Formats: sequence, C-alpha cells, structure tokens
Amino acid sequence: MARIDCNHIRHAYGPHPKSDKDFALKEVHHAFEDGGAYALLGPSGCGKTTLLNIISGLLYPSHGELLFDGKDVTNLSTQERNIAQVFQFPVIYDTMTVYDNLAFPLRNRGVPEPDVDRKVRETLEMTGLADMAKKKARGLTADQKQKISLGRGLVRSDVNAILFDEPLTVIDPHMKWVLRSQLKQLHRRFGFTMVYVTHDQTEALTFAENVVVMYEGEIVQIGSPAELFERPKHTFVGYFIGSPGMNVMPVEVEGRSARLGSQTIELPGVPKAGTAGAIELGIRPEYVRLGASGMPVSIRKVEDIGRHKVVRASFEGRDIAAIVGEDEDIPADPRIAFDPAGINLYADSWRVEMGG
Ligand code: ADP
Ligand code: MG
Repeated sequence: MARIDCNHIRHAYGPHPKSDKDFALKEVHHAFEDGGAYALLGPSGCGKTTLLNIISGLLYPSHGELLFDGKDVTNLSTQERNIAQVFQFPVIYDTMTVYDNLAFPLRNRGVPEPDVDRKVRETLEMTGLADMAKKKARGLTADQKQKISLGRGLVRSDVNAILFDEPLTVIDPHMKWVLRSQLKQLHRRFGFTMVYVTHDQTEALTFAENVVVMYEGEIVQIGSPAELFERPKHTFVGYFIGSPGMNVMPVEVEGRSARLGSQTIELPGVPKAGTAGAIELGIRPEYVRLGASGMPVSIRKVEDIGRHKVVRASFEGRDIAAIVGEDEDIPADPRIAFDPAGINLYADSWRVEMGG
C-alpha cells in the first residue's frame, strides 16, 4: 500500500484550455495517506472520475505530478502503478467462469496456483459468489457481474491502492449495504489505501471518516462527517450534505451581530478582521428553533419525514427550513430563532473564522 500525493494536478480534456472553466480539474493538491480510507464525494460532473483515472494512470494529467510513497509515477502506465480499480459498470471476461475471472489478476502476476486458489475462495465468500464459482459470467445478472468486478479489485492484496468508482450503482439496496460494510471490514483487516467515489452523501458518510468533497473541479473540504456537517467550509458543502441542506442567506454584519431584514441576530463571535465580499449566514435546519420567541414567520409547508418534520417557513420573503420533532406542534403565532452554536458565516461562499 502506498501514500498517494496529488501535487497541483490540473486536467483539461480539450486541446487548448483558455480559462478555468476549460479544466475538468482546476487544482487538486492533496495527499491520500498510506492505509487511509477515503470517500470522494461530489455531484455528477465535478471531476471525481477524472481524478481517479489520473491516479490509476488511465489518464495523464495536463499539469502537476503524482507520487506514490514519494516516487514520481506521473508518466508510468497503469500496469506499472499496480493499482486495482473497480468501475461503475462490470468490467469482466464474459466467456470465463466466475472463478477464473477472479483468478485472472493473480495468474497474470505469476502468483503460485495454491495461493491463487486460497485468495479466490476467500474473495468468492466475501462477495457472495461462492455458489456460482463454476458458472460462466455471461449468464449472470448485472449485479452478480458487478460483484465479480468488485472481487477482481479485492483479490490482490499487494496493490498500492484500490480505487472504487461508484461501484455499487447497479447493486440492489440491501446488498449495497452488505458489500459496503464488508469493504470497511476489509480495510480494517488489510489496511488498504482506498478511495471510494460516490455522489451519494449517505454512502460517503457511512463509508469513511475521511470525506473529500469535490465541487466544480476542486476539492472544497476534507473532513469527518461531523466536521462537514457542523462546519461546512464552503456554502456548497452546506447545501450538498444534510437533508434538507443548510439555510444560507445574505446578511449585513457589524461587530458581533448580523442584520437580517428587520431582525438582528447575535453571532457566536466577531468575524476575523478584513472579512469582505458578499457575506452570508449559514445555519442548518437542525439549529433553527421553532417556538414562541424570535422572528415572526409564516409556515409554507410541513413535511413529515418519519422521526422528525421539516418545516418550510418564510421570513420577510426568505425561505428558511427548520427540523422539529415529530410530536412538536406548530405554534399559532410561529417564530423562529437561530441556535448560535449552529451559525456559520461565509464571505464569497467561503467560511469565515469568528473570534471572541
Ligand atoms: P464525475 O465523475 O464527478 O461525474 P467526470 O470526472 O466524469 O465527473 O467529469 C468532469 C468533467 O469533465 C465534466 O464536465 C465532464 O463532462 C468532462 N469530461 C469527462 N470525461 C470527458 C471526456 N472523455 N472528454 C471530454 N470531457 C470529459
Ligand atoms: Mg464519474
């Protein structure tokens, strides 16, 4: 396993990139630690696959360098990089049996047959394919084929890293959950360096303690699920993670208070000196209190989503979502207040530190 350094990686698919928007990756500068498990999360088109393919060597970056354990591999082939990659859709040999599909990456590297057999059997168990080891891949269903793909990625334990690109898309929801927890167990057991790409926040947050959030060709935040939730570094992270996402509204700040329409909101601190640009206040619906004191609002909608309700309120033309308990009543004269612990401040979409 290896530490992977992405040093100032930029990538444009077209031949003559002129501005930032011509780059699928604008500037990725990040280290994946040896033995770390990472979820790479972001909406479709933000550059996740591009970054993964650059790490595995399917794609050479337009700029920047890639190091494995300090060694420059930027110009090495996929083979030479010794990486396992699992794609969104099955990449397998249809005419081979399930067993031979899994054995292939090992035999290809000259692993002795008794070791091949042991590893393949282990992997067949793990992926739930043991019963169909002798079947030809051709006749299997899409999710069985994808399990073979997954198995082919997991069968070798001597790789520098295992990269997963939305590998569970075609797998049914229950099996998805089973396979994901097996991946986590495997990580604990073997300490693989793993990068798991997904556009699904639940999948990312349950998979790894290190979540790397990408947006428009850049990494905007790296953090634990709790950090991403409590302290989104960019308003995008606030919107994208959580359900519903963070409320974000323009405010005017003076000292320790923020002006929102006719109301003044006390901030948890004073924004650091020199804060300029378009200032916005961000607060998650979990920190918006609905009760008898605070700003008067009108209620537009109440959505019952199981253990709690999402209340869509309107304050002087601004939409603000609040999450309240299932049994909580909506007051006749509803008002909302912001819990200061949940208040974040943003300047030009980036989080501003607040001091005492
Ligand atoms: P993601 O995996 O996050 O959905 P991708 O890395 O596939 O994103 O794509 C990032 C951007 O690069 C998108 O704007 C996409 O349209 C563009 N792109 C991806 N692959 C190619 C390609 N082969 N040729 C040209 N543009 C591409
Ligand atoms: Mg992709």
